[in-house]
Amino acid sequence: MWGPSGELTQVRCPSVFCMKLVPLVAGKIGYHDGMVPGHCPFIGTRVVDDAADFDPDHLSKIRSKREA
Ligand SMILES: [Zn+2]
Repeated sequence: MWGPSGELTQVRCPSVFCMKLVPLVAGKIGYHDGMVPGHCPFIGTRVVDDAADFDPDHLSKIRSKREA
């Protein structure tokens, strides 16, 4: 999700317990509620702008391969 001036303002949380857009604060994943409110392990994780090749379904694809 891109802000009006082009900066990244939201990212999809990589946690399988969240899987939703979360706020990006100063280049890090901001506070948000997942399965356990406020205790997502990715809060505070620095985010690299890799939107060009970011695949939001990547984790679920890996999981489905393991389960196959
Ligand atoms: Zn999260």
